Amino acid sequence: MAFSLSPSNSFNASAASVDKFGKQRQLGSLKIGSSQLILATRLEPHFIKFGLRKKETSTVSASSKESYGLIRKLEDNEKHRLHENECGQDPFEELKCRFLNFKKKNFVENRVHYENLAEAQAPKFMVISCADSRVCPSRVLGFQPGEAFTVRNIANLVPKFQHGASETSAALEFAVNSLEVANVLVVGHSRCGGIRALMSMEDEGDSRSFIRDWVSIAKSARLSTQAAAGNMSFEKQCTHCEKESINGSLLNLLTYPWIEKRVTEGTLSLHGGYYDFVNCTFEKWTLVYKEGLEGGSKYAIKNRSFWS
Ligand SMILES: [Zn+2]
Repeated sequence: MAFSLSPSNSFNASAASVDKFGKQRQLGSLKIGSSQLILATRLEPHFIKFGLRKKETSTVSASSKESYGLIRKLEDNEKHRLHENECGQDPFEELKCRFLNFKKKNFVENRVHYENLAEAQAPKFMVISCADSRVCPSRVLGFQPGEAFTVRNIANLVPKFQHGASETSAALEFAVNSLEVANVLVVGHSRCGGIRALMSMEDEGDSRSFIRDWVSIAKSARLSTQAAAGNMSFEKQCTHCEKESINGSLLNLLTYPWIEKRVTEGTLSLHGGYYDFVNCTFEKWTLVYKEGLEGGSKYAIKNRSFWS
């Protein structure tokens, strides 16, 4: 179904109603014809952090010991039931087992936190990482549910604003304008098949390839890699391009007017990360964007750190 933004079909990201007492507030809504679809609500971070909303604090203090006893009994019963599940050989039996273990060890133990998450999300991070199965940002960086709004694509690329709609630009729009994340982190990685495809593709290749079209977003990273590391082995060129393309994505983020505005205002920071899963190391840096930097440039890298 075709859908376009028009006076009757519109996205309103600024319809936020802030409640000073920390109650939910609506952050964005989508109007389709006469219907209003609320996209998200958000809790004040203070109350998310401590796993309680103000309202719940008073509710809990008013509860009787009897209520606590009943809740404890129900949770014990649930844990006992979950404990009875055994892992099978079937791949989905394995997933079922993992899910029930998550429920027992994480969800049930942190029920209030998950009840809050069911109402709203307020992540501080948006993460853009590769779809590669070996690169799982939640696993590697320990993000818990609710902490990172994540999009994964081939070679963790960010297309320019002018590229138009993509799943990545849609995710950015929601994370930045509605969720108001404070940080966007682009995570690249070692032995990236997408970057290898970019570095090895023929100039006149199969134009019907989705992969070819997608990785061409990082053509400038390929060109700068060939200029800077063209005399190195193909493997080393790929490693160079894996990092070069992250910086290309960071610069592409600034082509989105609402991202550029927030970075200039200081309410949003852009970061690069590189996960080397051969040696298990992680490199992290931050992009500085402002006028009057050394050498007349508007861009610089700061806070580079290496975790090993
Ligand atoms: Zn990759």
